[in-house]
Amino acid sequence: MKKLIAGNWKMNGLEAGAVSLIGEIGSKIGAEPEILERCDFLVCPPALHIHVVKHKIDHDHIPVAIGGQDCASTENGAFTGNVSAEMLKDAGCAYVILGHSERRSLHNESSAYINEKAARAHMQGLTAVICVGEQEDERESGNAYDVVAKQLWESVPKVSNAATTVIAYEPVWAIGTGKSATPDDVKAMHAFIREKLQENLAESANMRILYGGSVKPDNAADLFKVDNVDGALIGGASLKADQFLGIAQAV
Ligand code: PEP
Repeated sequence: MKKLIAGNWKMNGLEAGAVSLIGEIGSKIGAEPEILERCDFLVCPPALHIHVVKHKIDHDHIPVAIGGQDCASTENGAFTGNVSAEMLKDAGCAYVILGHSERRSLHNESSAYINEKAARAHMQGLTAVICVGEQEDERESGNAYDVVAKQLWESVPKVSNAATTVIAYEPVWAIGTGKSATPDDVKAMHAFIREKLQENLAESANMRILYGGSVKPDNAADLFKVDNVDGALIGGASLKADQFLGIAQAV
């Protein structure tokens, strides 16, 4: 299976910067097209920049999929400030990140709510990248596995399969901190997630499990060697084309 190299641009940059970033990513992939034999690429720009980034992707034939960073749990309607799965689809998205820890903590999103969003994404034919991961105190108190199991059980619709869903394991203490989980910890958690997916879902075969949390070009090779690591969800390093591609080169 090809690794999915996914960039979460979060709420960074302005329109011109987003267009130039995807342009640079496109040029770098164009300079070493054989990388596409090992990697699929995805970028998730801020909602307001999706159109211009998608336009650049189409115009320059850049082999990168585009996704949203969140979607509403409802269909279109009177929900001020929300962006629907249907709108993301209409804008050319193939993916949407759901349940990122920043949304779980800063927006109080529950796993049940994320499950509703995932169902909406699935209805529109979007692949949901559903994030799970424990807080630092939960790991220190030995509860990481219980927390992740509960998040998986509650956030992932039972009809999910490899075409509709990607899981991203992102230990919260590793996001944006420069403190990545060790390959041994990642190995154990990804094996556990694989087992839980098999228990919970009728069709979990080949579902990708990404690792996210301070992935950089210099730690990516060790992480990608780990069993059940099917790619990476990348925050900070996805904002620099050379680092984003540096991570892909580690595959
Ligand atoms: C993220 O926000 O999903 C993430 C993994 O961020 P970073 O790579 O910056 O840790």
